[in-house]
Amino acid sequence: MNELIDKLAQTQLLTKEEIVLLINGITPQLSEYLFSKARKVRENYYGKDVYVRGLIEFTNYCKNDCYYCGIRKSNKNACRYRLTPEEIMECCRTGYDLGFRTFVLQGGEDPEYSDEKIIELIWAIKKDFPDCALTLSVGERMYEAYAAFFGAGADRYLLRHETAAPEHYRRLHPPKMSCEDRKKALFNLKKLGFQTGAGFMVGSPWQTPEYIAEDLLFLKKLQPDMIGIGPFLPHHDTPFAEMGKGSLELTLFLLGMLRLLFPKVLLPATTALGTIAPDGRERGILAGANVVMPNLSPVSVRKKYELYDNKICTGDESAQCRSCLEGRMKSIGYNIVVSRGDALR
Ligand code: SAM
Repeated sequence: MNELIDKLAQTQLLTKEEIVLLINGITPQLSEYLFSKARKVRENYYGKDVYVRGLIEFTNYCKNDCYYCGIRKSNKNACRYRLTPEEIMECCRTGYDLGFRTFVLQGGEDPEYSDEKIIELIWAIKKDFPDCALTLSVGERMYEAYAAFFGAGADRYLLRHETAAPEHYRRLHPPKMSCEDRKKALFNLKKLGFQTGAGFMVGSPWQTPEYIAEDLLFLKKLQPDMIGIGPFLPHHDTPFAEMGKGSLELTLFLLGMLRLLFPKVLLPATTALGTIAPDGRERGILAGANVVMPNLSPVSVRKKYELYDNKICTGDESAQCRSCLEGRMKSIGYNIVVSRGDALR
């Protein structure tokens, strides 16, 4: 199996069959071999730097009904909130003082936050923080809206494809949503010039190694600048409440593979990874990741952005989150840097 990893490192490519073979053959030894290769590649491009993104979860209203997600429309127990533009600006100010140079506006697909309102937010943030990058993660919108967001100054866009296999996508989403639309949106974002992020949950219900291979091959076609993956974690008020969670080992293994498939990609060690294991994010960095995304949302709303059960960092102030992560990165020999942390192309 080590030969397959050597091949992956040399060619940045594997066939579907080879990817499936690797995933089915994971052992602790194979993982260690992969991670050491992935770290080397990561350090070639990024040294020991870790980029931080200040995550602002600005609304948990959502018109979608994804079966896995705690803020889905049908969850009547979700306590809904929406930050005002002033509250969002305040989060950015706090973040700027803490050394953040990228803000990520993430939310449910909230019709109240119309295209026009998002554009006004982009203007306001870029006016007050011209040296910062702004990432949007507000779901699927029309091509014209994406174009207007980019024109207003947004730099990056995160839209996980969730799964590249249409039949799997249909089992995770209501009929109204489509795999094809999601993929089309990603290609549109790229075409418009956004630094674009895709990704998927690891261990989502009915996921197979074959589906994961399709995800990786789809990503090869898309060539995103960022890839977000994290374990699926059940939420008690969703149709998937009783489904098993994703595995830490497989998530780490896939982070290592992604680093070799996409040497320069921006790859976060996600909050879900930190939720599934107390040292999940550190292990993610040691597997090849190079980004962390501490929370900048006001503490009063953090518990309400509950995508899955037991989400970490919901009680801490932004400064605590920042310094906790700084300590965690230092403990493994890596350093958080004050930088926009743009994608290398
Ligand atoms: N609405 C935007 C969108 O659809 O891209 C952004 C917000 S959405 C809640 C952000 C991501 O959370 C999703 O892309 C999904 O992969 C992840 N997520 C949702 N529910 C999850 C769960 N139960 N476990 C792990 N990740 C989850």
